[in-house]
Amino acid sequence: MKFALAGNPNCGKTTLFNALTGSTAHVGNWPGVTVDKREGSYRKKGVKIDVVDLPGIYSLSPYTPEEVVSRNFIIDEKPDVIVNVVDATNLERNLYLTTQIMELDRPMIIALNMCDVLAKAKRKVDVKKLADVFGVPVVEISALRGKGLDEMMRVAAKAADGVREGRSVVADAPAIAELVKEAKQRYADAGADNIVFRSIKAVEGDEQEKAKNPRIFELVGMQRNDEVDYEAIVADARYKFITEHCSGIVSGKPQGVKLSKSDKIDKVLTHRIWGIPIFLVIMFAVFHLTFSEDFLYLGAMGAIPSTKTPSVWNDIFGNGAINAPGTILFNLMDIATSSLGELIAGAMPEGVWYSSLVNDGIVSGVFSVLSFIPQILVLFLFLSILEDSGYMARVAFIMDRAFRKFGLSGKSFLPLLMCFGCAVPGIMATKTLEDPKERRMTIMLAPFFSCGAKLPIWAAFGAILFGGQHSDLIVYGMYVLGIVIAIVSAILLKMFVFKGEASPFIMELPEYHRPQFRNTMVHLWQKLKHYLFRAATIIAGSTVVIWFLTNISFSFQFVEDQGDSILGQIAQVFSWLFVPLGFGMGEDGWKFVVAAFSGLIAKEMVVSTLGTFAGMQEDALEVDSDQLLSTALGTLVSGMAGGAPAAFAFMAFNLLSVPCMAAVGAAYGEMRSGKQIWAAIGYWMLVAYVVSALVYWIGTYWWISLILVALIAAAIGIKIYVDKTKKRIAPKNLTHSGD
Ligand code: GDP
Ligand code: MG
Repeated sequence: MKFALAGNPNCGKTTLFNALTGSTAHVGNWPGVTVDKREGSYRKKGVKIDVVDLPGIYSLSPYTPEEVVSRNFIIDEKPDVIVNVVDATNLERNLYLTTQIMELDRPMIIALNMCDVLAKAKRKVDVKKLADVFGVPVVEISALRGKGLDEMMRVAAKAADGVREGRSVVADAPAIAELVKEAKQRYADAGADNIVFRSIKAVEGDEQEKAKNPRIFELVGMQRNDEVDYEAIVADARYKFITEHCSGIVSGKPQGVKLSKSDKIDKVLTHRIWGIPIFLVIMFAVFHLTFSEDFLYLGAMGAIPSTKTPSVWNDIFGNGAINAPGTILFNLMDIATSSLGELIAGAMPEGVWYSSLVNDGIVSGVFSVLSFIPQILVLFLFLSILEDSGYMARVAFIMDRAFRKFGLSGKSFLPLLMCFGCAVPGIMATKTLEDPKERRMTIMLAPFFSCGAKLPIWAAFGAILFGGQHSDLIVYGMYVLGIVIAIVSAILLKMFVFKGEASPFIMELPEYHRPQFRNTMVHLWQKLKHYLFRAATIIAGSTVVIWFLTNISFSFQFVEDQGDSILGQIAQVFSWLFVPLGFGMGEDGWKFVVAAFSGLIAKEMVVSTLGTFAGMQEDALEVDSDQLLSTALGTLVSGMAGGAPAAFAFMAFNLLSVPCMAAVGAAYGEMRSGKQIWAAIGYWMLVAYVVSALVYWIGTYWWISLILVALIAAAIGIKIYVDKTKKRIAPKNLTHSGD
């Protein structure tokens, strides 16, 4: 037996699905989290029932991918019962979808969710009346508290045994009654299924119905008056029915009258002016907690004396200052991995080639990635908490106002936000954007957002360049740089490529609530799993390949000087390309070029590649155990020929270039066009190259920034001038020829 959960976004379908099936699907706070359906099974006393979590929808019209997925599933896969999940705290709006689902020839029940919230407000739904109005069973549940679920499944199973014919509450609306009757007749003659549903859709002029039954659609269409907006009439009739029959169905005072706690919080957090600054401060606090080596600024105030004598205590908790929790965990992990590395190195025979492969290749490569896990976990923990509490949905709302100026809507903020975790799901989430222009543009911007895999690069370079004093600022700065470049990019793309207005953005803000421990942990685990998996496969594999390429010459001989190796030779040929970016300069320049190129495969590779190179520079065993990574890597980075500007240029290049092959694959999946994907790849590389060069040159000669400002001002001036002249020349009654 198969039950399908259908309902509005945020009505609690996924929570219900998880409660029924014991799975750990992502419970999201915004539309688009569940674009695809998800299946699991409910087991009780030997009965097994398949449960399908459909994406959240407001109607069964095929305007969004969610609506298409849900509608097709219900009609084509014929679930035994449709469980219409309804948010009882928002009853009338949720019932709009109910009036549509009930038109299908499928058994259905209404699961009245969030009853715990109603009960708290001392309100009650007249269940019997609701069941009478819609002619289907109604069960009160709380998905979150696990209340009423077994009863719900029992009622649903009973409903599955019967047959149900579709009923419409709008068929008798005067303006369409005749038309509906006619359509029903035609569908009946043709022996169609879901006659009531199809008739209403045909009257509405529904595109999908037109594709399905073109003949009937045309016949019905001939009776229609072109002047009349039938869709609007049908929608009105649905609302009218709901207001007439359901207004008194919930007892007690609706909460809307009084400001709820969430509304009060929102007055501050989504303030017109303060919203964005507050968001930036919150984000800074998160980065500070994760990366700072001067957590409470006690060091900056000189409150703690620093000592010269090294001690493990100081290495972990900080010297002359207190490390942030994230940094403390990082230090612990660093000590653990480097001790383990030392153990492995000690156990390997000396002077044989495979010892070098294991120690300098695999161990230093993989361990340098592993040692960043604590900080990644801490950062993601905070982000998950912000997401689960409902705050991130607010940020999308705040951002919508700003995004509009750049031709995007708050809708694209959500996928872009995901890119901070990983660009792959972020790019996939652009599925929810209806406007193809907006979707393409969002994909183009996606890699600029610093993902989890780039984090180790910032953390390592920050620690090396500033001795850890301001690592949090560096990391925060890279994230901000990515955002700034994305904004500038958006402006340019809108100006020259994707012209036009952004689609409207409507989103329901969920109530704030305390994040659920289990949920947060599940999020964390999923992210960690992803990272570990990549460390174990792609990264370990690639470090081996890179080790060989950097230790073997074209004539298959082991080399003394890595410059003679295959990769060294190739990189030296191309490193002149990166001289203008600073990091291609000097004797070690090619190493950074190779690292940057490995980053195009996966960004985790950058640090591990440099780690591999650094490992070969010194005898790892002679270095202090807890500094295996930082010292060797530190020597390499602080010895860059271009100095600190080159290091920053290197970071900028990694921030903005092609994020990884997986992301390219995902982008191709969404764009489905070879031309577009090549354009995107070219664009990312171009932006990375230009910005990286700018970073280097401005870092080296500050006055270049003045020229730059002048050039930008001139460009804007020219653009405004050209637009003005165009307007003057353009004839008045020009018809649109489409673009
Ligand atoms: P979906 O979009 O329909 O899949 O909704 P979700 O399952 O993602 O739930 C949206 C939000 O409502 C989440 O924050 C849930 O924790 C919350 N929620 C779901 N069911 C209940 C419930 O019965 N009671 C309460 N208080 N909250 C719930
Ligand atoms: Mg969901």
